[in-house]
Amino acid sequence: MDNQKALENPIFKMIGSCADDLGLNTYVIGGFVRDFLLNREAPTDIDIVTIGSGIELAKKVANRLKGNPKVTVFKNFGTAMLKHEGLELEFVGARKESYQRDSRKPIVENGTLEDDQNRRDFTINAMAFRLNEDGYGTLIDPFNGLKDLQNKTIRTPLEPEVTYSDDPLRMMRAVRFATQLNFEIESDSLNAIRTNKERINIISKERIVDELNKIMLSEKPSIGFALLHKIELLPMILPELTALQGIDEVEGQRHKDNFWHTLEVVDNISKKTDKLWLRWAALLHDIGKAPTKRFDKKIGWTFHAHEFVGSKMVYKLFKRLRMPLNDKMKFVQKLVLMSSRPIILSEDHVTDSAVRRLIFDAGEYVEDLMTLCEADITTKNPKKQKRYLKNFQVVRRKIIEVEERDRIRNFQPPVSGEEIMQAFGLRPSKEIGIIKETIKEAILAGDIPNDHEAAYKLMLEKGKKIGLTPTVK
Ligand code: ATP
Ligand code: MG
Repeated sequence: MDNQKALENPIFKMIGSCADDLGLNTYVIGGFVRDFLLNREAPTDIDIVTIGSGIELAKKVANRLKGNPKVTVFKNFGTAMLKHEGLELEFVGARKESYQRDSRKPIVENGTLEDDQNRRDFTINAMAFRLNEDGYGTLIDPFNGLKDLQNKTIRTPLEPEVTYSDDPLRMMRAVRFATQLNFEIESDSLNAIRTNKERINIISKERIVDELNKIMLSEKPSIGFALLHKIELLPMILPELTALQGIDEVEGQRHKDNFWHTLEVVDNISKKTDKLWLRWAALLHDIGKAPTKRFDKKIGWTFHAHEFVGSKMVYKLFKRLRMPLNDKMKFVQKLVLMSSRPIILSEDHVTDSAVRRLIFDAGEYVEDLMTLCEADITTKNPKKQKRYLKNFQVVRRKIIEVEERDRIRNFQPPVSGEEIMQAFGLRPSKEIGIIKETIKEAILAGDIPNDHEAAYKLMLEKGKKIGLTPTVK
């Protein structure tokens, strides 16, 4: 492969020339090199390593660039960053790292390129292209990362035991890269991770979730979750999922393995949507099944109210992992809570009123809910699969039809509280709520259309029924 091509952007020559002026050996390293060699889209964050001061080099580069971009210096890390034409260039002095047991923050000293490559997480992330004029574009690959790229292997430059124990975030990164690139983690690494799995506890939740989200946004997220399961990290991060694993049998009756089912659902939904939180909803849609599982002699296995229990568990899980407790979480909760509704509905004759209730309860999330239910079909029986999908298509069509006519999605009561108070000369009181509820129910049931005239009429009727007197005839 023509390495010069990777370095076509004139910025690289320019960095090399600044480095020559300062007498610093300088390289582009890490993700940029890896992604170029893999023919992946060029990343916008680019790591430059120099044998000397990264900050000094960054300042020199910025001075020479048009518009003198600002250099952000992270003194504690000895790094500097500047932005140029949509790129984020990070400059760092080559370093040697040594670790202490209780922290993933190493003691850092200046080092050689080799030292710097040694401290990298994986062989495929340790390759560098030289930027100085003398040897421009030469690939420096001391651990044969190129071969690992070809063999699709995740391997550490040094002893895996040490690498993972030093910085356990690398366990998550290994899984994440294996998922994103569809690579295998080699067996010494797998063993080292298993041995050191408890060390994951020194990693902040935010960092773990960052990696989970990257796994989640990959083409086939199940690769990552299956790996986390295999290397025994899953119970420490998402025990709710581990709890879904396994099949029980009582009196010859078995239920499906809800863990592997869930992973299929996540892969299915990932073919349809890139929405992170919809993918999370797919991952968590069945978590209530573990605590609600019962065997009933008459009906077999049941998971009574698992949707409700699951939606409560979503809150605890988000809180534990320091995930956002905002509308994103509410979205996931709502989808988990409603995850069986379209199924129940589609098993029967799909009535307008059932569809109105579905739209009313799901509101703006109704399409996402349908996407989740379709992804939830994992039967291997092609006839059943076809039938379920067709049923959901009927529901989807009905949703559009009913919504066009009845406008339930962003339901606003057609008669306001103000109007009710005026009509009966009331102060704020519980009667207003009763009347509003009656009107809403009548609309959802299809007894009256969703319009003001019909609702006003019903208001008068209901008011009289509960003993109110209209102020005007
Ligand atoms: P991407 O940007 O797609 O996530 P990347 O390889 O660029 O991939 P970064 O997190 O940006 O990953 O890190 C840049 C480089 O820094 C990596 O390629 C790797 O060489 C090194 N690196 C990052 N994190 C670690 C770590 N925890 N331990 C060792 N080396 C690391
Ligand atoms: Mg990067």
